[in-house]
Amino acid sequence: MAWDIIGHEWAVEQLRHSISSGGDAHAYLFAGPAAIGKALLALRFAQALNCEMHFGDPCLNCRNCKRIARDNHPDVRIAGMATQAIGLKPEEAARQKDLKIATVREWQRDLSLRPYEARRRMLILHDAERLNEESSNAMLKTLEEPPDYVTLILVANSSDLLPTIVSRCRVLRLRLLPRRQISATLIARGVAPADADLIAAWSGGRIGWALRMQEQPHELERRRELIEELSGLSGGNRAALLRWAEQQAKAYRSGEQVDVFAVLELWQGWWRDMLLVAAGSPAGITNIDRRDLLERAAAAYSLPQIYAFTARIGAAAQQLRENGNPQLVLENVLLHLPGSRFDSHTGRIYHDHDEHSTANRQTNRRPGCSGPALYAATLCRLPGPGGTRRTPDGRRDLRAGARNIPDDQSGDDLQYRRYAV
Ligand SMILES: [Zn+2]
Repeated sequence: MAWDIIGHEWAVEQLRHSISSGGDAHAYLFAGPAAIGKALLALRFAQALNCEMHFGDPCLNCRNCKRIARDNHPDVRIAGMATQAIGLKPEEAARQKDLKIATVREWQRDLSLRPYEARRRMLILHDAERLNEESSNAMLKTLEEPPDYVTLILVANSSDLLPTIVSRCRVLRLRLLPRRQISATLIARGVAPADADLIAAWSGGRIGWALRMQEQPHELERRRELIEELSGLSGGNRAALLRWAEQQAKAYRSGEQVDVFAVLELWQGWWRDMLLVAAGSPAGITNIDRRDLLERAAAAYSLPQIYAFTARIGAAAQQLRENGNPQLVLENVLLHLPGSRFDSHTGRIYHDHDEHSTANRQTNRRPGCSGPALYAATLCRLPGPGGTRRTPDGRRDLRAGARNIPDDQSGDDLQYRRYAV
């Protein structure tokens, strides 16, 4: 068996069984967080269906397996936002928000042809959550009456697709992997244990992301430097903050949107760690190599301040996705850095309103308003850079107002949230 997939054993077993029993479906939806191995699983499934050596398992060595892996098999098409953007300038590609109907129609023409060489004609469609209503409806035609020889695999970072699409697919919901499994995988590949633990913590359970970090050691260093820069923003003067916002906005406008979202994700991760430390639950932090700094930084703010600012970074990411002016959005979030200032270089804390801050801190330390229950209650309601608020069991929170970020979180509000969950 050469699936070579880390984790997701149940999904591999299910796919193997469906091939060997002849019960494979015409359409699949592989849904789950980004960078957890969905694309590799889709590729392996296409290879398993078309392998010349085995039936049910890919050999990875035959002509079909190799050409599918290189994306040059005439019967297996791999498409998504990236292929739709071929030929566009980077800034034009960055502006593309969804999979267009013209793109879907092009795939459909392709799928109407019988396979030349493989057993099945296949489409692996990445970013399926970006199908808009029009293109979803066009896609439905193929899902409702697929030719016998066609297999479609929709790969989506969430299962928030049109229900009529989801209902016509066999759905495999892939989950994040445990931190220890990612760390053990990296150590087995020669990564030093301390680095492996750090990458595993940063990965948040995304094995694909962790393996990319392992292949690019300079990224690990760059990320450490970025954390340093972001943690230092709290001690920066107004001019330095505005300069930083300008740099990020410039990068965003020139097509480096993915990088800017990555910076916001990292920044929000830093503040989320501070929230965990301040709430008395440091075991779950991701920046495990900066625990001391986090403890000192968290002491500079009140819990409601940390909560509100963490939410504000998530809200900024959402505003960018909704075409907000990048410079204004980033300046706005920086100008709302809480009143206390923590200088990461000197380790000193400066309070704009010492009396107020002290009062806030005392409020936070009330026995009923701290600890893991509060941390769980607050974190599960924060919109991440993914832009979506989650219910405690990880589903999208679709209740009215769930996307609205309050300007100010009072201690009482947090107390309420604790019981509301
Ligand atoms: Zn093969």
